[in-house]
Amino acid sequence: MKNVNTVIFDMDGVIVDGMPYHVKSWKEALSTIGMSASDLDIYLMEGMTGRETMEVFIKKSNISISDETADKVIKLKREIFNEIFTVTLMKGIENFLLELKDRQYKLALVTGTRLEVVNKVLQMGLENIFKVIVTGEMVNKGKPNPEPYMNAVDELNARKEDCIVIENAPAGITSAKGAGLTCFAVQTSLSEEYLQDADKIFQDIDEVSEFLLPSIQSKEN
Ligand SMILES: [Mg+2]
Repeated sequence: MKNVNTVIFDMDGVIVDGMPYHVKSWKEALSTIGMSASDLDIYLMEGMTGRETMEVFIKKSNISISDETADKVIKLKREIFNEIFTVTLMKGIENFLLELKDRQYKLALVTGTRLEVVNKVLQMGLENIFKVIVTGEMVNKGKPNPEPYMNAVDELNARKEDCIVIENAPAGITSAKGAGLTCFAVQTSLSEEYLQDADKIFQDIDEVSEFLLPSIQSKEN
């Protein structure tokens, strides 16, 4: 990992523990039109935009739904999410980000989540961490399409071989790999059987930190 000087982070499940709120708000919103989804269904679609997630729910169900109804469900999901979402940073992430920043790594954030939610997360002391931020509304096609990660690399003006992506969900891994990037996965919401397309799988952020910045560990030990 000698030449790596750029780390591109997914947000949910990597920086912030947001998925439980997405799961709860999707379930509640879908239930208003008699649809349901399992926790695993929702976790497997993590990283996709709300609209794309809704399209998959509709395809999987046998219920026919007008565009108008689908829009209402997406809007309701957002409203419920905004109401219940409380920012909890993932264990170890703050130190990891600060340490990377300290060592002059270029850092970016690539998420399917909307800017208003991203801003709530950045307010937790992460305002000056990321050089580039790509949110759900900034792309034509979200993860698993390569577009979000490709846009980040372009904006960073980085070489692909100097970058590492940290993801926790299959759509994000597919997007990063499609963009030609090395992708690490953390098992914060899904176990490794769902993360096999990643180049390397870690338990959590602390393990990634030990791997990428080993001298921090030797300093402490
Ligand atoms: Mg994620």
